[in-house]
Amino acid sequence: MNTKVVIVDENNIDKDAINEAGLILREGGLVAFPTETVYGLGANALSGDAVKKIFTAKGRPQDNPLIVHIADFNIESLVKNIPEVALHLMRKFWPGPLTIILEKSDLIPGETSANLPSVGIRMPSNIIARELIKASGVPIAAPSANISGRPSPTEASRCVEDLQGKVDYILGGGSCTVGLESTIIDCTVNPPCVLRPGGITLAMLKEVESSIYMDPAIMKKPEADIKPKAPGMKYRHYAPKAPMKIIQGDLKKTIAKINEIVQNYIDENKKVGILATDESKDSYPNGLVISLGSRKFMESIGKNLFEALREFDDAAVDIILSEAFEEEELGTAIMNRLKKSAGFNIVEV
Ligand code: AMP
Ligand code: MG
Repeated sequence: MNTKVVIVDENNIDKDAINEAGLILREGGLVAFPTETVYGLGANALSGDAVKKIFTAKGRPQDNPLIVHIADFNIESLVKNIPEVALHLMRKFWPGPLTIILEKSDLIPGETSANLPSVGIRMPSNIIARELIKASGVPIAAPSANISGRPSPTEASRCVEDLQGKVDYILGGGSCTVGLESTIIDCTVNPPCVLRPGGITLAMLKEVESSIYMDPAIMKKPEADIKPKAPGMKYRHYAPKAPMKIIQGDLKKTIAKINEIVQNYIDENKKVGILATDESKDSYPNGLVISLGSRKFMESIGKNLFEALREFDDAAVDIILSEAFEEEELGTAIMNRLKKSAGFNIVEV
C-alpha cells in the first residue's frame, strides 16, 4: 500500500490535508494522526470493515477494544445512557486525555467494542485531531499508531517507522504534549472505576466525585487466572526491543545499584541503556544515558518516556535499566507504563 505522509503545522493548519485525510476516513481507510496523548491510528468507528483494518495493520489482538474519538459533545447516538457523573466528567475534562466507558448503542459495531456491551469515548484536545474528526464527519476509532506491543509513538516519524506501507495516510503534527495514553474511567459501574491511569490523575477525578477509585489490579503483574476489567490490561505493552529492569528505592542507592549492574554487563561486552533523570544523569559514567527530564516536572518525564524507549531501540542496546518514580499523581501513570514495558521486572534497593 502506498502511504501518503503530510506534516501539518498546528498553528497554521493545512485545510487541504485535513479534508483529504478526513475523506479517506469517511470512505473506510486508515489515517494516523496526532493527539495530545500519543499518535492514533484512526478508522471510521461506525464501520466494522474499516475498523478491522486497524487490527490487521497493527497486529492487534481482536479482543482488545478501541477508543472512539469525537469532536463535539453530542454523543447521544453512540451510547445508551449517560449517568450524571459521566456528564460532569465530560464537562470538566473534555476536550482532554480522559476516556469514558459507557453502555454502547447499536450504532457501534462489535469490531470497535471487541463485542463488549460498552464503548470508550474521548474528545481529544489536539486541534489537528479535532479538525480531522470534524472533516471526516464520523466518530473515529483509534488505538495508538504503533505496531502492537511496541512503545506508543509520540512523534510523527515513529508512525512512519511502524506504519509506512500499512496505512493510507499519516497526518503528522508536533510532539504529543502528554505523551502517555488517556486515563480510562468505567462509568458503567457505580462508583466509577479507573481502568488505566493517565494524564488526568485520580486526585483530579476525585474532585468531581470522591467515590471514584482505581482498580487495584492496575499496578500489579497480571495473573493468568484473573479476567481483567479492561481487556488491554492482559497484554504485554509499550515494550522496547531490549529487556528492561526497574531499580526501585532511594535515589542514591538506585544510582549505586544501576552502576553495579552496568559494570557486570560491560564486563560481558553488552551495551546498556540507562533511563535517568536530570538529577541523576551525571552519576552514570558508563552506558548510554537518556534523561527523561527533571523529577520536579513529572509532565516532562511522561512526555519523553516512549520516545526514550524508542531511542534505546535505535541504539540496539542489550538491556535497559530504569530508575523508578513515586506512584502518586502523574507518577502512577508513568510507573504503570514502565512496569508494563519491563514486564514487571523490578529490583528493590
Ligand atoms: P489503546 O487503544 O491500546 O490505547 O487502548 C485502549 C484501551 O481501552 C484498551 O486497554 C482497552 O482494554 C480499553 N477499553 C476500550 N474500550 C473499552 C471498554 N468498552 N471496556 C473496557 N476497556 C476498554
Ligand atoms: Mg496502544
